[in-house]
Amino acid sequence: MKQYDYLIVGAGLFGSVFAHEATKKGKRCLVIDRRNHTGGNIFSEEVEGINVHKYGAHIFHTNDKGIWDYVNSFVEFNRYTNSPVANFEGELFNLPFNMNTFYQLWKVKTPEEAQAKINEQVAASGITDPQNLEEQAISLVGTDIYEKLIKGYTEKQWGRKATELPAFIIKRLPLRFTFDNNYFNDKYQGIPIGGYNKLTKGLLKDIEVRTDVDFFENKEELMKLADKTVFTGNIDEFYEYQFGKLEYRSLKFEHETLNQENFQGNAVVNYTEADIPYTRILEHKHFEFGKQPKTVVTKEYPCEWTAGMEAYYPVNDDKNNELFKKYRDLSRQEENIIFGGRLAEYKYYDMHQVIGSALVTSNKELQ
Ligand code: FAD
Ligand code: UDP
Repeated sequence: MKQYDYLIVGAGLFGSVFAHEATKKGKRCLVIDRRNHTGGNIFSEEVEGINVHKYGAHIFHTNDKGIWDYVNSFVEFNRYTNSPVANFEGELFNLPFNMNTFYQLWKVKTPEEAQAKINEQVAASGITDPQNLEEQAISLVGTDIYEKLIKGYTEKQWGRKATELPAFIIKRLPLRFTFDNNYFNDKYQGIPIGGYNKLTKGLLKDIEVRTDVDFFENKEELMKLADKTVFTGNIDEFYEYQFGKLEYRSLKFEHETLNQENFQGNAVVNYTEADIPYTRILEHKHFEFGKQPKTVVTKEYPCEWTAGMEAYYPVNDDKNNELFKKYRDLSRQEENIIFGGRLAEYKYYDMHQVIGSALVTSNKELQ
């Protein structure tokens, strides 16, 4: 009999939810992570009494009451509503695209006037059947918004021309004809009171976790410890890049503590012009309505992923999706290895979707 039922590679949300569900059913789990902490990308670190989102702004949102109740069973969430502001050449605009944005751009005051302005620009563009992100964006919001608030940001974020990117990326953002700056349409939204680590700690309570352990440095030995392996890292790395490398985008974070109480008055300010190398500045205290005397800000610089970096975003264009399918087909032949999460499923998943995926996978596995 092996020491564990499951070896879980990755202590991010997928791995932690799977480990929690399996442990609840009496299974013995060992969770490993090559980082020096648990939580994966939702990890936060306390600095000057402020929970700093070490891997970028994380706002929990979902329409699924079951998933909302699930996370709230580990930690209470606050009423934070994400309302980022965009800075384009020194001028500020509300996001997502809504009546406030339209007023700031065109001084239009009614939904009818705003819609007419957009329709006029869409008609002038001649786009009827959008094939890529640029065409999709213009056909949704017109050329002014595309040029000022989308093109520069998108091309920095993805390191590719907007004409070469899939349209679905821009469909994430709401477009509405009300004066409502809520970045998400979902019914439930918030930040864990006291930080995301409380959620991770709750999920991993009483489960054996080893950090600073890279699966690939000791793959055979580690897999021998358990009947089955749950792998949440990069799927192409698992298969030693035998069909070639999948592309990912990475980020460099520049964290800074400032000796002032309030730097920008908002948790997230996006810089949408091409010439500024970062995409956004976060001011972490505002996620939790903090009143600390100091503040911590983070600039996010996007870059192409290369080996040794953290892979944050799958680049889900046709070329990569085709390559991913080859790895997915291999993974489906495995009897004792389960693949899940943003990197192993190569999907631009938000937290609630990763939790959903982990719950479906664990229910199927543990039934
Ligand atoms: P991860 O968190 O990446 O966990 C995988 C873990 O596996 C990592 O800890 C990694 O170190 C470990 N690992 C990989 N390979 C190995 C190995 N060989 N050996 C050992 N360990 C290994 N979602 C939202 O819902 N709202 C947001 O506002 C939001 N903002 C985001 C902002 C940014 C900048 C990013 C990058 C993501 C954001 N997300 C957001 C998405 C969210 O981070 C993910 O959906 C979620 O964290 C993914 O969980 P995961 O377990 O799949 O992956
Ligand atoms: N986007 C944009 N301008 C903005 C914010 C977002 O053009 O000010 C586009 C960009 O292409 C980005 C996508 O919308 O990749 C999704 O934005 P989101 O805020 O969901 O990105 P994430 O938080 O996943 O980085």
